[in-house]
Amino acid sequence: MSLENKAAKKHLLLLTSKLGYQARSFAEAAARLGITVVFGSDRCHQLDDPWKDAALPLHFERPEEAAAEIVRAAASQPIDAILALGDRPTIAAARAASALGIEYSPPEAVETCRSKLRQRTVLRAAGLPVPEFFSFTLREEPRNVLARVRFPCVVKPLTLSASQGVIRANNAEEFTSAVARIRALLETPELQVTREPELHRLLVEGYIPGREVAVEGVLEDGHLRILALFDKPDSLEGPYFEESIYVTPSRLTEAEQQAIADCARSCVAALELTHGPLHAEFRINPAGPWVIEVQPRPIGGLCSRVLRFGPDKILLEDLLVRHVLGLEGRELEREDAAAGVMMIPVPASGIFEGVEGSEEASGVPGIVEMEITTRVHDYIAAWPEGASYLGFLFARAGSPQEAESALRVAHAKLRLDIRPRLPVGHPVTGRLPAGLPRE
Ligand code: ADP
Repeated sequence: MSLENKAAKKHLLLLTSKLGYQARSFAEAAARLGITVVFGSDRCHQLDDPWKDAALPLHFERPEEAAAEIVRAAASQPIDAILALGDRPTIAAARAASALGIEYSPPEAVETCRSKLRQRTVLRAAGLPVPEFFSFTLREEPRNVLARVRFPCVVKPLTLSASQGVIRANNAEEFTSAVARIRALLETPELQVTREPELHRLLVEGYIPGREVAVEGVLEDGHLRILALFDKPDSLEGPYFEESIYVTPSRLTEAEQQAIADCARSCVAALELTHGPLHAEFRINPAGPWVIEVQPRPIGGLCSRVLRFGPDKILLEDLLVRHVLGLEGRELEREDAAAGVMMIPVPASGIFEGVEGSEEASGVPGIVEMEITTRVHDYIAAWPEGASYLGFLFARAGSPQEAESALRVAHAKLRLDIRPRLPVGHPVTGRLPAGLPRE
């Protein structure tokens, strides 16, 4: 039977909180193979249902319930595989998969990854290189917490992603204002409505200097296959950690790359992850590799577009769809060319009114695609409150250096029009509502 015929009989459940370009990329990959996609989301009321599939309304913060809902739906609508996009749906995905007998990492392993604190605790117990850390709740007085902090440190919430709310502090004053800023962020309605457990708990960890890399991989029976090792050539020294450029192949030495691969494999074993996509971040310095985080999900945003596999240059989304459904083509090797992606940074919070210079940027040699993903007139927040990029620039070139410089040259041609939002203060006191991003 041809790949298309085998695939045509398959049903893939895509779980996602963010509706938009990443979900669409995966649905398109499935559609290319004739696979039926069913969406499960906690944003169903916003779903534009482009594939005319009724989406399952789920609450990812109540994974047991969400899994039961999926199992109920599976009685009338077959589900052969589940892919979770982003961190939020991973536990519901793992629980539903376990109940339906679908290959997936065990729910306990996925739960461990979902909390930055739990993940650190398990990795430290396994003797893996993680920074020193402790957690505290926002009910404690920062003054009392301060006694335990060693500087420089990084303060972060337990379950957010995309570096949202991650702040470096070098002294007591910076620590106190970082905690206040994270508290204000966590009190915003946008985050309160997620009802994530332990939103009031923060993690404090030692700041790890060094170069940062991201590993993109897939797991099969606990074996990690590394699909790409990305360098992050910007110096990510804080105080905020907005991502920008990812370039592959890595320019680290063979020995450094091997050390990172070994560390990634040890993390997978310690966390007891077994199946599905994996995205992990590490820093490397003279002491060796350090684990920043390991997540059982694919890379976010549109970044996956930068990776292509096999003679037909299928995208990472296509490879992952084949992988979770056990279809042929999942073993294809990544093309040998250098490639890079820039998550276009948000220079300041405000209303996005458009961008000039797109044509010049797209015309830079090596730039193969540019996509602005923020809608004109939408509010966009800069880091640490922010969690979405303005868009993405993609480059392919003869070497990683050339890919990186194409991205930088193209980015320099963009003139972003972001207008400050007028803060609406209290009519009597003039005070701003808690959590309003400070422009
Ligand atoms: P998220 O899951 O939101 O991306 P991370 O814990 O991965 O949060 O942190 C985001 C970024 O912040 C990392 O990619 C890294 O650049 C920086 N960072 C986080 N923790 C540390 C640390 N302990 N030392 C140095 N940098 C850190």
